[in-house]
Amino acid sequence: MRYQKKLLFLFTTFMILSVFIMYSNIISQPKKDTSVKKDKKELIPNAEGKIVLTDAEWKERLTDEEYHVLRQKGTEQGGTGKFYHNKADGKYYCAGCGYELFDSETKYDSGSGWPAFFKPATDSSVAEIDDSTLGMRRIEVKCQRCDSHLGHVFDDGPNPTGLRYCVNSASLLFKPDSTEKK
Ligand SMILES: [Zn+2]
Repeated sequence: MRYQKKLLFLFTTFMILSVFIMYSNIISQPKKDTSVKKDKKELIPNAEGKIVLTDAEWKERLTDEEYHVLRQKGTEQGGTGKFYHNKADGKYYCAGCGYELFDSETKYDSGSGWPAFFKPATDSSVAEIDDSTLGMRRIEVKCQRCDSHLGHVFDDGPNPTGLRYCVNSASLLFKPDSTEKK
């Protein structure tokens, strides 16, 4: 009788544990999936260090506004962008692929309605391409890594470069410097 009780106790414990493990698996499964969707899937550069996606993949990854600016060379309405008045210290990254593009130390108020920088974060951050659309000769600025459209560069900027990188807020992600430095 005592032996039977012990067996029953062990069996019950085993069953409860199994149900618990099964249940926690079921619970944790959808959680994993949503976190992947939320934080965009990590992009892996190809052998040339470029990020290449199909148009459909870009569409799925970006918001409508980001897609219009980054992939269709659109321009956001002046003065409306979320980073136009951003004066916080930090770094700006490509909204398409997360590549480092600009540093807040080079950001200035150009009065144009769009975020302006007098130089990119590194020599290899952006690509500059002749652009003669809209009947103007301008130089288009693109993300070096994923070829997303960022804006244009003009030669009416401040010292030390004399350049004005006029960039859409929709093309940028901002990460503030950590406050640990203080
Ligand atoms: Zn990019």
